[in-house]
Amino acid sequence: MNFCSQCGEKVRFAVPAGDDRPRYLCDACGTIHYQNPRIVAGTLPVMGSKVLLCKRAITPRKGHWTLPAGYMENAETTRQAATRETWEEACADVTLGDLYTLIDLPHINQVYMIFRAELVGGFSAGPESLEVALFEEHEIPWDILAFPTIERTLKHYYADRKCAYYPLHISTITPEDRERYLGSA
Ligand code: ZN
Repeated sequence: MNFCSQCGEKVRFAVPAGDDRPRYLCDACGTIHYQNPRIVAGTLPVMGSKVLLCKRAITPRKGHWTLPAGYMENAETTRQAATRETWEEACADVTLGDLYTLIDLPHINQVYMIFRAELVGGFSAGPESLEVALFEEHEIPWDILAFPTIERTLKHYYADRKCAYYPLHISTITPEDRERYLGSA
């Protein structure tokens, strides 16, 4: 950030009085520009034994497969965000289940929240998807999944499905995890 979004003057990066970390400060209007992590909400849509995946039409990771997920908007709940993203990316209606994976990515300031979901009815590619399809476990394109968060969520799902018990999984993806994943793809 170079300029204040409130008044247009130049900002500086410094620790505000009484704070413990640097922020973008505007001396002209006194605004402190706080920056906080973004929530990515999405679903793991299931129909029978199959899982719905979307092939990304946009960067990053264009052409790779993902679960429907995206940035939460202001004024919506995480459940609404997950449902909306599923509709936007896969034109799919779902019955939302419980929160299933909560994954912190502190190095890129994101938190993933993926809910289990049951697909009700049809689906088709939304504007951010090239293709949407149902996959059996042996058909999952592990080598061309878009993000380590997606791979981790699917691995939990197939492990839990063996005993039909789906607890919430909370974990962290480190820069090393991410580099290993994206570097190998
Ligand atoms: Zn200002």
